[in-house]
Amino acid sequence: MFCIECGGPLTLMYAKGEGLVPYCKNCGEYRFPQFATAVSMVVVNRNKDKILLAKHLGQEDYILFAGYVKKGETAEKAVCREFKEETGLNTVKAKYMSSRYHEPKNVLMLNFLMIAEDGEIKIDANELAEVAWFTPAEALEHIKKDSTAEAFLKNALGEIKKL
Ligand SMILES: [Zn+2]
Repeated sequence: MFCIECGGPLTLMYAKGEGLVPYCKNCGEYRFPQFATAVSMVVVNRNKDKILLAKHLGQEDYILFAGYVKKGETAEKAVCREFKEETGLNTVKAKYMSSRYHEPKNVLMLNFLMIAEDGEIKIDANELAEVAWFTPAEALEHIKKDSTAEAFLKNALGEIKKL
């Protein structure tokens, strides 16, 4: 562990109410671990009977829509921006569901359940290979197994009617 300001080595030091926290002796400051924040979306149509999944370029499995939150941006804004970038469609409504830390990418994923406006989808060909609408049962079959996306989908399915 190294200091993000001076590059010096960090040691663990007790901080009141926080437990052991990385500390830089050079700077005399605690350095809380850094991680990225991303949003993930379970996308439903206006009728709330279909779920839109995405397949990334070069990938076999379907996953949920997702993207990093920009510095200074709210998670709610990131949901609308990312979905618009990837499909060309607007977000009618979005509701926060749950979160999960994804270790391989050092990112805290915030999952939202959202309704997409009806319309023709124009996928971002730089990122996505294809998107497809599924019934909830089909979506569970097609989502990447044992993934964060699968856990978010299972959690959100029970909430769709309440959205
Ligand atoms: Zn330092």
